[in-house]
Amino acid sequence: RATAGPQYLNGLNPEQREAVETLDGPVLVLAGAGTGKTRVLTTRIAHILSQGRARPQEILSVTFTNKAAREMKLRLGQMLGQAVEGMPWLGTFHSIGGRILRIHAELVQLKSNFTVLDVDDQVRLLKQLLQAENIDDKRWPARMLAGLIDSWKNRGLSPSQVPAGEAASFGNGKGGKIYATYQERLKILNAADFGDLLLENIRLFRENPDVLRQYQNRFKFILVDEYQDTNVAQYLWLRLLSQAPSRPGRSLADVIPGDLTSPRLRGEVGSQSDPGEGDSPQTVLVETPPHPDPLPASGESEQPALKNICCVGDDDQSIYGWRGAEVDNILRFDHDFPGAKVIRLERNYRSTGHILAAASHLIAHNEGRLGKTLRTEDVDGEKVTVTGSWDSEEEARAIGEELEELQRSGENLNNVAILVRASFQMREFEDRFVTLGLPYRVIGGPRFYERAEIRDALAYLRTINSPADDLAFERIVNVPKRGLGDATVQLLHDHARKRRIPLFEAARAVVETDELKPKARGSLRDLVMQFDRWRAQREVTSHTELAEIVLDESGYTEMWQKDRSADAAGRLDNLKELVRSMEEFENLQGFLEHISLVMDRDGEAGDEAVSLMTLHSAKGLEFDNVFLPGWEEGLFPSQRTLDEQGRAGLEEERRLAHVGLTRARRRAKIYFATNRRIHGTWSTTIPSRFLDELPAHNVEITESKGGSGWGGSGGYGASRFDNLESFGSSYSTPGWQRAQANRNRGGGGRSGGFEERQSSFTSSDSFSRTKRGPMVI
Ligand code: ATP
Ligand code: MG
Repeated sequence: RATAGPQYLNGLNPEQREAVETLDGPVLVLAGAGTGKTRVLTTRIAHILSQGRARPQEILSVTFTNKAAREMKLRLGQMLGQAVEGMPWLGTFHSIGGRILRIHAELVQLKSNFTVLDVDDQVRLLKQLLQAENIDDKRWPARMLAGLIDSWKNRGLSPSQVPAGEAASFGNGKGGKIYATYQERLKILNAADFGDLLLENIRLFRENPDVLRQYQNRFKFILVDEYQDTNVAQYLWLRLLSQAPSRPGRSLADVIPGDLTSPRLRGEVGSQSDPGEGDSPQTVLVETPPHPDPLPASGESEQPALKNICCVGDDDQSIYGWRGAEVDNILRFDHDFPGAKVIRLERNYRSTGHILAAASHLIAHNEGRLGKTLRTEDVDGEKVTVTGSWDSEEEARAIGEELEELQRSGENLNNVAILVRASFQMREFEDRFVTLGLPYRVIGGPRFYERAEIRDALAYLRTINSPADDLAFERIVNVPKRGLGDATVQLLHDHARKRRIPLFEAARAVVETDELKPKARGSLRDLVMQFDRWRAQREVTSHTELAEIVLDESGYTEMWQKDRSADAAGRLDNLKELVRSMEEFENLQGFLEHISLVMDRDGEAGDEAVSLMTLHSAKGLEFDNVFLPGWEEGLFPSQRTLDEQGRAGLEEERRLAHVGLTRARRRAKIYFATNRRIHGTWSTTIPSRFLDELPAHNVEITESKGGSGWGGSGGYGASRFDNLESFGSSYSTPGWQRAQANRNRGGGGRSGGFEERQSSFTSSDSFSRTKRGPMVI
């Protein structure tokens, strides 16, 4: 290979270049923030393509968000000097899993147009099942069960594989049974939840060796970013795909994990299980046929499949443990992939000296880490600043002023991000920015598509698209009001259950009987006929036109036109915007697909705007200026982790702080407020312990520009706390109780891979008692 090499290799350091050019066999890049891991992955794809080692459709490339996938595609185009035609398998675990599932839907008892349920749908369905089992929803909330099912799915556990003790832990021992019923119901509804996109995909592969083989053959190269945050289900899925294909007809047990419930795969490695046992399950997993077998005559490529898998990650940035991620996956890579080449990158290309030093010093307080060297050849730059404010409002005001100052100095606002620990913190900033007229975008916040009016409109479209989508139909059967109340819906449910048909078909049947009062019957018949008509129209009108017709004829638009509440006009605008947004898609199916899989909520990028997001959403991103508000005990680290026994939660919070700091290229600015109001209750707060863990040499204490301040005179002196004490002891217990509840439900784990899950976590993981024992200074 010529040393000069193609253009895209220029500028890579030797280690990066090795990671790019080692195309054969497994490669792990284990390296710190900003060392170019993602860049290596992108360059590697460019290299594979330009060397002709694979076609775009033969490369499986997993990113953590959709946005990251888009960016990667863009960069690829730049590297290769031409847009890449089709990289169908570049995306998140869930989007790729969903795509594969749709192709083979019938093998897992679904149809290819199956609906992807969101959390609300999921909860509504579970509520029904709890009711049917006479389980008290107050004592055993459906949401809690949804969380439990998610965590099982994250661990790759189908109903029969859930450990008995856990299955019995919910609903007087009925948790496992309801999980099974739930899975059955989903099939009848022609629906899948997020977790299913992977779990059902794994089942598909396990039960259909020929299908698995087809994909093993297809994917010549596998690349995974942010490998430290993969969960067990994602791991299993990758393991299946990265095996060399087996001989047709051969037992799958030879090559894939037969026992998904083995202790290791349940994430219990390192616990008391099998000490000293040489033959741990992973040895079995790793076993593959010594030579790739002849390929099935499937018309796929005749080349033997190779396990050319390249994963990149950083154990210090593992921040999704609460959602089932297994940092162990990355630490064990060379066991899983024998002969793996492990490459370390030590030069950070992102941050200035002070920022990198502060971040490195902070993360060194964690015990459970590999430890690594990071250096920068950049200037020291500005010190990391720490600013105290009287309260969160003043904090928002101070940051607002700084932003205006940056703007005046000619800084592009796209280079500015505000990273919060919990999504509730955003409101204050949003209010402030609106007041200042400062353009901002929320990434990872409540999405446009999550607004009630949008969800209603989507429910109509979903019902048209998939008549078996009961949840959608139920959502709008009486919206706007048509005299089809609970009794009618109950009747439809009874029919549907008895005859195992969708609600919509039940409605069609019921209007032929006299079980409903004439008025309701007439109204329901009209609705059924309307849907039939819309479905017929679908063939002849564009999907955008259809949407307009539906909103109009259903009376939905009119409902808001007549509404006198203050936000009705805004809702009508949103509905218009929804129709507009559909234009970007070829058809209704494509549009609905997109919505079910949208992960990042940055809306239309393009214009200059400050980015506002949670720390979790900021993973992998970088900004010149990063603002980090709310560094207070009980908020960051969160109260939940403070209440927890053991250090695991706290260490994950510290990694989150580390992720936050390492997003900054030139300026990192940390804030804390001494008072915070949550749900109308004031709490006195204590600055985060993470502040104490920053190296004095790289940090500058500044005073809030907002005025009153916390009286800080530089340094974390006792005077600061005297000051704090005087604000009394109005602890807000509701938050604390909520934190308790969260803890009790076993980590509050939500499904992996979807950003919206985060907000539900971060908001519920909200605020609480903020005092702790004597502070070590
Ligand atoms: P994170 O752990 O935060 O995801 P990362 O390791 O993926 O970080 P990248 O985002 O790939 O790091 O790179 C960080 C920054 O450094 C990017 O702006 C990237 O373009 C730049 N960079 C990486 N390698 C080089 C290089 N060899 N020369 C110049 N710039 C580089
Ligand atoms: Mg990266």
